[in-house]
Amino acid sequence: MDKICIEELKIFAHHGVFEHENTNGQNFYVNAVLYTDTEKAGMLDELSCSVDYSKVCALLERVMTENTYRLIETAAQTAAEAVLREFPAVRAVDMEIRKPEAPIDMEFVSVSVKIHRGWHRAVIALGSNVGDSRRYITDAVEQLCACPQMRNVRCSELIVTKPYGYTNQDDFLNGAVLCETLLSPHGLLEFMQEIEKSAHRTREIHWGPRTLDLDLILYDEDIISDPDLIVPHPDMHNRTFVLKPVAELAPYYRHPVLGMTMMQLLERLEKK
Ligand code: AMP
Repeated sequence: MDKICIEELKIFAHHGVFEHENTNGQNFYVNAVLYTDTEKAGMLDELSCSVDYSKVCALLERVMTENTYRLIETAAQTAAEAVLREFPAVRAVDMEIRKPEAPIDMEFVSVSVKIHRGWHRAVIALGSNVGDSRRYITDAVEQLCACPQMRNVRCSELIVTKPYGYTNQDDFLNGAVLCETLLSPHGLLEFMQEIEKSAHRTREIHWGPRTLDLDLILYDEDIISDPDLIVPHPDMHNRTFVLKPVAELAPYYRHPVLGMTMMQLLERLEKK
């Protein structure tokens, strides 16, 4: 992907863990790499088809001066997310905040934090079979939409399905969400668990009744096998109630392990 680079943008601001840093302020230097497609702007010689770096610099100055953070980690993260949200053509950014006047009693050139942030495609499955299931699911989708680290949140149709695993319980209402997110896979899982909690979710029986269940089904083409997070969801290809809504939203999304699209996985499962 093409890059637009901003180097050593000097901004006087007040970030730091010490009170004197917050009152006196010091110079910070911002280095930003914006990952974007410049082909159209290059062909047409037209600024409106590209990302206006002077506007990005103005935004960086606003973020750095209108807030006082203790950590340059927070300054870098806030700056990166602000750029990604305000300039939709930027897919990802490298953001470095340098602090050459940091309070260190030794000779040094600079300290800095460098991060990479970007938009990621994610698919979340939703299910409920206790209480007002439609309400629980639509509330969850609203919470996903309202999160500043999410955009283009699309929800599938909700379908009534028979319980899976533990069958002695009410029918489920199921659906899926396709979205773009700035959150990491673990950050997204944590946010999904907060949404579950807000629906007074309790977990008494494995695969048993629940007010709200959110599963992370796919995250870009990532393959994750951590103790607390497995992506693609390990059982998604065996569940019609997952594949049906996901295939509606993203029929050509390819399962990164099985190599088949959502539509192909659904067709294969329905033939079984
Ligand atoms: P359940 O709510 O019954 O689906 O189980 C949730 C538990 O599964 C949590 O402790 C998660 O850490 C873990 N888990 C592993 N992979 C995933 C995933 N892809 N989506 C949601 N939860 C997951």
